[in-house]
Amino acid sequence: MTGPVAKPWILEIAPYVPGRSTTLSGKKAIKLSSNENPLGTSPAARDAFVSAADSLERYPDSGAHDLREALAALHDLDPARIIYGNGSDEVLHLAAGAFAGPGDEIIYVNYGFTVYPIATRRVGATPVVAPDHDYATDVDAILACVTDRTRIVFVANPNNPTGTYATRAEIARLHAGLPSHVLLVLDHAYAEYIDGDIDDGGMELARDAPNVLVTRTFSKMYGLAAERIGWGYAAAPIIDAMHRIRLPFSITIAGTAAAIAALGDTAFVEHTRAHNAEWRRWFSDEIAKMGNAGLRAVPSQANFVLVLFEGRLTAEQAYSGLMEAGYIVRWLPGQGLPHGLRITIGTEDDNRGVIATLRKLAGEH
Ligand SMILES: *Cc1c(COP(=O)(O)O)cnc(C)c1O
Repeated sequence: MTGPVAKPWILEIAPYVPGRSTTLSGKKAIKLSSNENPLGTSPAARDAFVSAADSLERYPDSGAHDLREALAALHDLDPARIIYGNGSDEVLHLAAGAFAGPGDEIIYVNYGFTVYPIATRRVGATPVVAPDHDYATDVDAILACVTDRTRIVFVANPNNPTGTYATRAEIARLHAGLPSHVLLVLDHAYAEYIDGDIDDGGMELARDAPNVLVTRTFSKMYGLAAERIGWGYAAAPIIDAMHRIRLPFSITIAGTAAAIAALGDTAFVEHTRAHNAEWRRWFSDEIAKMGNAGLRAVPSQANFVLVLFEGRLTAEQAYSGLMEAGYIVRWLPGQGLPHGLRITIGTEDDNRGVIATLRKLAGEH
């Protein structure tokens, strides 16, 4: 007897590989592999989460009214055009589910976020991979991939795992070059970490254009990865289509309460942003000092740095050496980066510890 057979495009999915939280021997270690907030969570968000324990018997508000109002007030948006989901991962899946299917094409960059290929194949669409330009998003390469079967372009800005940032002018050029029936998804999971007051103009495009969806998350800057709250903003017909396939109760009461409280704790956000900016600069400078050993930091606007190993010390050796020293980072051979480690910016102690370990390893090889 044979059992049910999964769709062929489902069997082509390479399952998502999450960041490790223990060493190979099972020892607990400092986790710098999932870009979580090293400063924890806002105390106000934690209090709101704890208070939600009084309503565990209730279903959440399927319309997420309070969350949408809070986001709309903070970002000056129309609350009716906000979609939300179980992490922004769900929102990315909703976009693929509503706008692509078998025979359609979805474009993303070579060194991109690994949820995009999963979301693409899940709906039976065909992935089209655009080459990068020295690890950064190459707008011309993406535009060269567009065909009349293209339905979606996924761009993370800043990008994961490279940390690179496409400017407002480049994003505008990308959008201008796309036919209006192609949905441009700008994944802003790390938008809060960009230096200074610059932004890529994505939210304005989502407000004004018929074909742009911006996604955001509470998992990184807001320190709420455990609670799985993400959201998106786009033209009303896009949001309407996504709502039709959304799970009715995919965000929880506790997570929503924590998220709303987190939005109000601007001191925590500012502290996180300043900490990250300071240590990202320090970390990248320290890697540059190891340039003669072949180490190179890809310029990052996120809360992690992609370190390339182009000398005698290999990324694999550095990965093992860091793990032995108690630091778990992300080695990315499965993403075409066997020579790269993605390292989350941690606390001061974490960052100093990682750099000291790398310096020692570089000296030994
Ligand atoms: C972390 C991350 C997300 C956010 O995931 P959540 O599901 O919201 O936790 C989205 N996109 C990218 C590129 C990320 O790195």
